[in-house]
Amino acid sequence: MSDDCIFCQIIDGDIPARTVYETDETLAFLDANPLAEGHTLVIPKTHARQLQDLDDETATAVYETLHRLVPVVEGTVGADGSNVAFNNGPAAGQEIPHVHGHIIPRFEGDGGRPVHAVAGSPPELSEEDLDTIAGEIKSNA
Ligand code: AMP
Ligand code: ZN
Repeated sequence: MSDDCIFCQIIDGDIPARTVYETDETLAFLDANPLAEGHTLVIPKTHARQLQDLDDETATAVYETLHRLVPVVEGTVGADGSNVAFNNGPAAGQEIPHVHGHIIPRFEGDGGRPVHAVAGSPPELSEEDLDTIAGEIKSNA
């Protein structure tokens, strides 16, 4: 629990939310400023700022809840698909410093963009650059 965290306050019932699903480890509720009908957030019940701050068990629980809810949310609002994403860290646009996965329903012709649209200016990388990056990530994983 982080006293000044709005999502921890939702977990504690101090701030209202439109809860749609709950487990021992996770809570899912409607985004208060939905980008689409059914826009849902999935959070761990323990405070953690970013994905890398979650322990394995909690990360699995968050994914299980996303996995369960994606078809439910899509089906409920009659969506044709969804974007499922985390803004991980302020540089990536994370405003609430408590891990949350977005389920954003998508509809054919809704004018939205794919997740590829989040990058500002994609770098130009050679095959060698890509090999180097892949090798470094692989050795660090
Ligand atoms: P992010 O930019 O990934 O940190 O997104 C935070 C999301 O939380 C935004 O989509 C907000 O609309 C949403 N949000 C902020 N406060 C609340 C709240 N009290 N209840 C539900 N959603 C909220
Ligand atoms: Zn929190």
